[in-house]
Order: sequence, then structure tokens, then C-alpha cells
Amino acid sequence: MTDIGVGLIGTGFMGKCHALAWSSVRAVFGDVPQVRLEMLCDLDRDSAQSRAATFGFTRWTTNWREVMADGKVDVVSITAPNALHRSMVEEAAKHGKAIWCEKPLGLTLEDAEAMCLAVNKAGVASLTGYNYLRNPAIIHARKLVREGSIGRLIQFRGFCDEDYMADTGLPYTWRCRVKDAGPGALGDLTVHLVAIARYLAGEIDEVMGDVRIVYETRPDAEHPGRRGKVENEDQANALLRFSSGVQGLIMSSRVAWGRKNHLGFEIHGSTGMITFDQERMNELRLFRHDGPREQQGFTTILSGPAHPPYGDFIPAGGHGLGFNDLKVIEAAHLLRGMTGREKIYPDMDEARRIERVIHAIIASSRQGKWLAV
Ligand code: NAD
Repeated sequence: MTDIGVGLIGTGFMGKCHALAWSSVRAVFGDVPQVRLEMLCDLDRDSAQSRAATFGFTRWTTNWREVMADGKVDVVSITAPNALHRSMVEEAAKHGKAIWCEKPLGLTLEDAEAMCLAVNKAGVASLTGYNYLRNPAIIHARKLVREGSIGRLIQFRGFCDEDYMADTGLPYTWRCRVKDAGPGALGDLTVHLVAIARYLAGEIDEVMGDVRIVYETRPDAEHPGRRGKVENEDQANALLRFSSGVQGLIMSSRVAWGRKNHLGFEIHGSTGMITFDQERMNELRLFRHDGPREQQGFTTILSGPAHPPYGDFIPAGGHGLGFNDLKVIEAAHLLRGMTGREKIYPDMDEARRIERVIHAIIASSRQGKWLAV
């Protein structure tokens, strides 16, 4: 394959991130194939036309099935709302396209299982949008864990908090309905945390969930004077048991005032610990119990060229990568995966495993007991 034709569906928050990634991936990583921006799709005609022009796509459409059937498109970015992911992935797989699908896979576990089946049956490459796993700081954390820098792992504590629904005056929208959004904070936020937990500490066997809708109703913008009933969780906490014996505790909230992207963790070992917060995404803090006690303390490791692939972007440490750079790293990984040079992670199969965890948390919370994932 000499060059790769790209299709993009959805031009909102994530659509723009994917478009930026596709535009710059070859300039950042010279080893990947050239990319052609072939066809862009949005349901909204004006957005489709204007975004195709500004992002640099050759053609545009309002019918996503045209992207899937297009002979010049090799890979499709799916950045439309969750409820559309399943049919889009199934159609893309049917046409033999490689797929970069945003998380969560679908609304239900059944969706996730069906999407995984479709992709495996078609044998197409698939990558899911767990961008935080691409952060050189997180990659370095895994290296430290694997090298035994903090000893034997004993506990993972994670948090993922935002305040995008903290305002009680925010209207009732599709985001509050299970049939349109699926889970709430678990699908938006906790999935990222579970991806990181699995990446650092391995398989999760059992969960004990406590899931809550904090604000039961919201003003219904479509029916002035009425209030809509919120159906999915604002907050989700869970205890975890990993196969390795590591204990886990994860907490997520979409109603946590002041938190913008407070995604992070502490991972504790028998001889030290590592902590990370995405709001300071270029820093990793490491404590090691070695050397004289009076000199022990946390070391802040600032991302730099010693932490691949930081150096592909900037030759000097401390200048910092940003969220959009993580998407560029994802795009490069997918391109290498499509040409057989790297094994894609997290693919659809890993994404399905992540979603098994969040759906087990919901079921466990309902039943009030530990459940196997
Ligand atoms: P958004 O509302 O900003 O954008 C969605 C876009 O899809 C809009 O442009 C909309 O017009 C378009 N669209 C809707 N129906 C369509 C259709 N039938 N055909 C074509 N286009 C259609 O949403 P968003 O925040 O970009 O979220 C999109 C996806 O990205 C969601 O699955 C979300 O969970 C995920 N997401 C991932 C991250 C991350 O960190 N990886 C962050 C935010 C969102």
C-alpha cells in the first residue's frame, strides 16, 4: 500500500481532532504512508461542506454510507455520536475498510460484542479512540512498572472527573437518555480509566460498583416548562480485583465542579508509587523507597525526547505535548498496523473487554454485590 485514503464521519469535537491528526501524521512521523483526505461526512450539510474545505478533504457528503462504499477510501474515522457507531462499524467492515472508532463502542455490551465480531469476521484493522494510552508519560509509567521500579504492584487508584454536567440548569438532552447515549459517566469517562488500569495492571476479574444519578431531572429544552428524567449515571465508583491480585478503586463523575479533565491514577507497589493527572499531562511523579530515607521524596519526570514518541514532535524536553498530539500518535499507530508493522492496541477486541468492565459495574451496582467481569 503506497498511500492511504481517509474518510471521516462527524465533524464535531472529535471529528476535528481526527482531521488534524490525519493532516499532520506524515509530517510528524516520516515512516508512515502518505495520506489522502478523500471524503468527509456530516449529517449537517453546511458543516460537511465547510469542514471539508477547511480540513482539506477532496469530497463531502451527508450520507455516511457513501464513505463506506467509496473505492478511494481505505480507512474510516468514526467520530459520530455513540448510537451510530455500531451500524457504521458493521458497514465499514463489510466494505473491508480499516476503522478508527471513537469510544465507547456502542450503547450496550451487545453492541460492543457485535462490532467486534464484524471486524474480526472481515479481518480489517481496527483502532479505538483511547488516546490517553498514547501519552509518552503513560507509556513511560508502564515501562517503569514493568521494569519493577516500584516493586510488586499492590494497588491501582484512579479518578476521571469533569464538570460538563455539574450545572443543574443544563437542559435535558440525548446525553441523558440510555437509548441515545448508553451509559453516562461510565461511557464518557470511566472507560478511559479502565483502559489505563488494564494497560498498567492487567486483567480485571471482579467489580463491585456503586453508580448514581445525582440530578434526577433536568429542564427539558424541547418542552418548555417540563423536566426530563435523567436515565444514566452522573457518578460511578467501583472496587476492582485484578487477576494479578492487585486491588483497585476507580471513581468517575461528570458533575464534579472545577474538574475539567481530571483523569489520573496512583499506582502503588511494594517499593514505591507513580502518580499522574491528565490536567498536567507532561508530568509523571515517581516515589522510590531507596537510598537514604532523609533524601527520599517524589521525583517529577517531565516528558521529553527520552520518552518516545515525544521526540518525533519536539527535540527538546519540557515544551510539552497536547491532547491533539495524542491523536496524531494514534493515527500513526493505525497506519503502521494497517501495513502490518505494529500490532494494533487497543483494537476492537480490547475495547470490548473495557466495556465488559463498565457494564459489570452497572450490573453490580444494581444487584449490590461483587460480580465477575
Ligand atoms: P459532537 O457532537 O461534537 O460531534 C458529533 C458529530 O457527528 C457532529 O458533527 C454531528 O453533526 C455528526 N453527526 C451526527 N449524526 C450524524 C450522521 N448520521 N452522519 C454523519 N454525521 C453525524 O460529538 P463528539 O464530542 O465529537 O463525540 C463524538 C464521539 O467521540 C463520541 O462517541 C464520544 O464518546 C467520543 N469522544 C471521545 C473523546 C476521547 O477523548 N477519545 C472525547 C470526546 C468525545
